[in-house]
Amino acid sequence: TLYDRQNDPRAVIEADRAHVWHHLAQHKPFEPGPHALDPRIMVEGHGLRVWDITGKEYLDSVSGGVWTTNIGYGRERVANAVRDSILKLCFWAGAQGTIPGALYAERLIEKMPGLSRVYYANSGSEANEKAWKMVRQISHKHHGGRKSKILYRDRDYHGTTLAALSAGGQQERNAMYGPFAPGFVQVPHCLEYRAGELAGEGYGERAAAQIEEVILREGPDTIGALCLEPITAGGGIIVPPQGYWERVQELCRRYDILLHIDEVVCGFGRTGTWFGYQQYGLQPDIVTMAKGVASGYAAISACVTTEAVFDQFKDDTDRLGYFRDISTFGGCTAGPAAALEVLAITEEENLLANSTRMGAYLSSQLQTLMSRHPAIGEVRGLGLFQGAELVADPTTREPLPEKQVQAIVADCLAQGVIIGASNRSMPGFNNTLLFAPALIATEGDIDQIVNAVDGAIGRVVG
Ligand code: PMP
Repeated sequence: TLYDRQNDPRAVIEADRAHVWHHLAQHKPFEPGPHALDPRIMVEGHGLRVWDITGKEYLDSVSGGVWTTNIGYGRERVANAVRDSILKLCFWAGAQGTIPGALYAERLIEKMPGLSRVYYANSGSEANEKAWKMVRQISHKHHGGRKSKILYRDRDYHGTTLAALSAGGQQERNAMYGPFAPGFVQVPHCLEYRAGELAGEGYGERAAAQIEEVILREGPDTIGALCLEPITAGGGIIVPPQGYWERVQELCRRYDILLHIDEVVCGFGRTGTWFGYQQYGLQPDIVTMAKGVASGYAAISACVTTEAVFDQFKDDTDRLGYFRDISTFGGCTAGPAAALEVLAITEEENLLANSTRMGAYLSSQLQTLMSRHPAIGEVRGLGLFQGAELVADPTTREPLPEKQVQAIVADCLAQGVIIGASNRSMPGFNNTLLFAPALIATEGDIDQIVNAVDGAIGRVVG
């Protein structure tokens, strides 16, 4: 079988070295030669522990590398549901529905008061593109094509496709891929720690006012949607300041701008509520989601809208009156079948409450480290989504050089704890350690993570 090859790790490693092009990776160190590193091959997972092909065990504090496996690894009932769905009807795409698709949409909408329609796709980038296509179509239908700009925020990330990069606030990720799609306009970030003179009492209002400045500069009648992460993820775990979201919601209402919240990372309990926007009492018009939907057990994403948005696609007197979009693999039944089980497990095991409780514990333990390590400039996050921004000097807040941040990540890895760091995307801003373990994490797991970080910072920074 496939996994018998595990008995010959060398053959697997060499097949990988010869033919696989890894995501986000520089391959030079793997090139054959006397100092070649082996690509790391991950083999097995249970709960939040994973093993690589050499047999080394790790505690995974990043949920599969990119904050995805919220319910942990090795869940048999999810596997069984996927198996059943594949044997019954693996796939049907196009204008017809499927049983798992219908039943999952009903369950999902229970968790999202005010929203009502689920459009399936298979990646976060793709779900976001669906959202923006909806916005553009509404603009063409009702505003003569004028109200078509999408506002996005500095440091936010919405995906890897060219339109998503056009809405990308992380400059190094974009650097090699222009020219970009027109009609995407950036608004400033809302990280108080890096806000300079704007920081302090009332910062939330001031940060939101910066969005209004952009709206007025561009002209409200040219703007279709404002797309934001509830908490900026890869851009450094940015929890928006108090007063920010109320203003943002009000701006969207005042200027008739659709509020699109990207829940690709924050969805499904990551921050302690079903969705990150629910921490703030927001009423978005469009919500996109991916990673946690099926917790990595299947590829599925969704673009969820209000009935008011959906209603605008029901003009049967117009040949172009419906949403002329399809996603081939939005028709895989394994996605919603897995997602139904993930949702049930999240409820039955009270994972939202655990995310809140263990997130608070992780945050307080990281803050305790601050007294020992001045290199930790700020700890921020919500639920089991926490970041520690590292600085070379706590007074000037000069970021810790990326080499040292990476050395800390590598030291933790050597200790058997996988942690993350903010994306290598913003020169001088690649200095936030990221923690997003599965929502089943215990105090013992958190202690192991924090001890590893403690030791690593001590060794690397002193
Ligand atoms: N939105 C956010 C907030 C993300 O972090 C990501 C991926 N990390 C995406 C969208 C894109 O998702 P995908 O990689 O599935 O296309």
